[in-house]
Amino acid sequence: METKERILTCIVCPRGCRLSVTLEDGKPVSVTGNSCKRGLDYAINECTHPMRTLTSTVRVEGGGVISVKTTSPIPKEKMFAAMEELNRVTAPKSTVAGDALIKGIAGTDVDLVATEDA
Ligand code: SF4
Repeated sequence: METKERILTCIVCPRGCRLSVTLEDGKPVSVTGNSCKRGLDYAINECTHPMRTLTSTVRVEGGGVISVKTTSPIPKEKMFAAMEELNRVTAPKSTVAGDALIKGIAGTDVDLVATEDA
């Protein structure tokens, strides 16, 4: 059995606790350094199924860009595919904040929405 230690900074709240995760054969078996259960959950998810919210910009028809983000985190390994998809999208001039520009980005059930008006 291979045992490793992985050090993470919890990003769930601004306190930024330093987490130490013990991995046995790549699986988290213990977490220390967290000040609350959310940190424990974050550490386990980060070592087994890391997720990220995607924030970026999309072109607007006629020129300019608007900021966009996913409505919730998506698997980290889908980030590249999601970026490729959003690079192919052009937002209509009538876009307002909250409009979904891509439904189910990168094969997930998460939408990419505008966070500002076009
Ligand atoms: S472990 Fe808890 S208190 Fe510490 S940064 Fe994460 S969420 Fe905040």
